[in-house]
Amino acid sequence: MESGELKRLVESVNARDARVLDRVLGRLVDHSREIGTIRAFVGGMGLGPHSRHSMGIQISEPQVCRSGAKAFVSLLGAHPALAEGRRLEAVLPIFGPTDDDPAVFELRGEAAELLVLGALALGTDVGDIRNSIEGLVHVAMGPEAFSTVLRRLLIGRPIPEPGGREGIPASILRLRKDIERNCLVGVANALTDVSLAAQGAMPIAYATGIAALSPSVGCDGTIVTIEGTGFGPSQPQNVDVYFPTITGSCVPATVISWSDANIVVRAPSSVGPGCVGFVRRGSGGAALFKATNTLAGEMERCLGMAASAAAYRLRQAGVLGMITCPPCLPSKANFFSGGPPSIEYFSANGGFDVAAEPGDAITLSWRVTNASTVSLTRTSLAGPYTPPPAPLPTSSTHSMGAFTGLNPTTATYELTASNACGVVSRSVSVRLQKTPKLAVSAIEVVQVIQRPDNSVRLVEGKATAIRVFVDSGLTGGFDYGKGPDVMPRVVGRATAFPVGAGRGFDLGAPWAPASVDARPASNMNRDLQSHSLIFDLPANLAVGTVRIEVRAVVQDHEKDVGGPFVAFGATTVTFQARPAQEILPFLVADPLLGLPAPTLAQFFTSLRGAIVRFGISDSGFIVNPPQMYSTVRGPSIRPLTQALGWSLMLMDLATLIFVFPQSPVGGIRAGLVPTSATYAVNGMAVPRVAVSIPAMLAQNGLLGTFAHEMGHAIGLGHAACPPPCPGGNATPPDGIDGRLPGVTDATGMDMGTRTVIAAGRGEMMSYCGDTSRCPGPTRWPSTTSFDIVFDSLPI
Ligand SMILES: [Zn+2]
Repeated sequence: MESGELKRLVESVNARDARVLDRVLGRLVDHSREIGTIRAFVGGMGLGPHSRHSMGIQISEPQVCRSGAKAFVSLLGAHPALAEGRRLEAVLPIFGPTDDDPAVFELRGEAAELLVLGALALGTDVGDIRNSIEGLVHVAMGPEAFSTVLRRLLIGRPIPEPGGREGIPASILRLRKDIERNCLVGVANALTDVSLAAQGAMPIAYATGIAALSPSVGCDGTIVTIEGTGFGPSQPQNVDVYFPTITGSCVPATVISWSDANIVVRAPSSVGPGCVGFVRRGSGGAALFKATNTLAGEMERCLGMAASAAAYRLRQAGVLGMITCPPCLPSKANFFSGGPPSIEYFSANGGFDVAAEPGDAITLSWRVTNASTVSLTRTSLAGPYTPPPAPLPTSSTHSMGAFTGLNPTTATYELTASNACGVVSRSVSVRLQKTPKLAVSAIEVVQVIQRPDNSVRLVEGKATAIRVFVDSGLTGGFDYGKGPDVMPRVVGRATAFPVGAGRGFDLGAPWAPASVDARPASNMNRDLQSHSLIFDLPANLAVGTVRIEVRAVVQDHEKDVGGPFVAFGATTVTFQARPAQEILPFLVADPLLGLPAPTLAQFFTSLRGAIVRFGISDSGFIVNPPQMYSTVRGPSIRPLTQALGWSLMLMDLATLIFVFPQSPVGGIRAGLVPTSATYAVNGMAVPRVAVSIPAMLAQNGLLGTFAHEMGHAIGLGHAACPPPCPGGNATPPDGIDGRLPGVTDATGMDMGTRTVIAAGRGEMMSYCGDTSRCPGPTRWPSTTSFDIVFDSLPI
């Protein structure tokens, strides 16, 4: 039979078992206490995930939880291997030589725990042990869903979800007859011997005859008299008095005197609340020691390393014997309130560290056992406080009142419980915060200047900024330290989806400082760079129609899928293709002042002043090979220290005729002259009139002036920048262009320096911002001059 056939066999068994398995699980869900007691049994044996012991660290007697052992045997008995004696042909290779498959290793470890726990649980029972052990072994190596689920439940681990129960790979499956016979028989025999020996060695715990404890409250070393009847004249040799411990286990106490009606003992260290009684040790200790040792050896031989944890605990059970703790009498006459108090819980609004909104009430809840006094205090300066009742009940709830305030603060409360054995305390804290309701209020797509509705046209192939404005959604004036209703530290991501690209492009981190303080939309100022998250949309993605999607989130909430700390937004814009503009550079030397001509690299720097201000793509200027020029041409000179010199040179450029040019000479004639404070003007230009060609002159390095002069060349007049000029030394411009406002009418963006240009900046075609006429921040186009240039190029 090959592995595929084995797999199909297992599948058919699973289909047959499905209904019974569901019924068994359904019963367990209704009685989750059953699972709890099984876990108590597993943990008491020092195995399973809830074990109090780590392997090899702490040696303690395995403690048999009898109700758990009973539940274990009952659940195991529901399996067809025990209920009907079913044996499957397909099994897991848990016995025999080991291999390196980690899945097999894990299965062997689980099987080993199941076998050890099963043998000891069956040892507390009085049934047909040999038959039950054989069934147990088949559950341990069962590949079908029923066994898989039961194994996990019985060793105290979470069960796999439906669908994950059938996940045993076909390659692992083996035929039962191929499993090593010696191991199968050897382990089964050794398990049976352990069960039988455990039956004999199992201790018996009881509290019969106890009428009262005096005192019934005490600490380490307290002398306690157990009052009652029928204890016998002296302490039997195999009987010990057991006291409860803080950890819920039990330990023997020192007996000082013993009579039929009074036993005087000293409470052990680590004494805790619980029931006092007697434990009669089983007589079969030697037989259990021998049987556990044999089984541990068999398991290590047949299951390998995977069985070592289970074998270790098994040997401990053999060496130390097993104990079981005394039961509580229905009258509670044997209950001892031992040790320091225990705070079972102390919570604020249901948690230990919770958040509250302004105005929320803080309700504290607690339950304390074994305390003589309990007190409740506020340990922080902040937070509401309503005096609790005195004396404070050991179990109650108390409202401290409403937590108010406009700043994030933390209130802490401490519950202290004490008795003669000690003092314990626990704290809870409540953080006052206001939950924002983040929203993307606007996404602006800007290249030079833009209105809030993105109605200024966009150019293809031009560096673009995406400005994202985030509304905090906060009201009521809560202040996180950046002002009322401001939610600090909002970060985000933006993705561009060019239509037709079939995919999105992550636009990377926003501009420094990479976060924004979100504020109510009514307090936003588009002119402030810090009021937006700004992303780069590179020129190569600014093509055709592009959908921009953004996700903004309060820092540390990056993993939130949705909710008040996350906001989404999207906008769609279209970039328009624009034709190129030819340009012919003139690099002008000034021998009159001994100044060399600017370089071509310097020309390109000046040209950037026009690119960032114009509705032209970043590669929209076709720059022809430069012409070298001079202020001295034979007998004629053009002294730039005089306005006349500038006019004559401009005329030269506009009227120059190239005969048999060596290279292309079309386009706007743009002369770049050296920089000198003694020059009469910063620049000068003429538009195309009659036969003359558009031409301009500008001093090297004045980027705003270069764009201004080229604006003239394109046909723009002057903008009347607000008289009086801020510098007071303005020569009012001539040739006012009635179309242009004096200052910018919308918020701009200088993609060269990556700075927002607030509305109201001196217009590109004004003198405000001209370094020699009316100094100020660099001039910028209004939407009007932007549109005129957009529609005029090329000329
Ligand atoms: Zn001008």
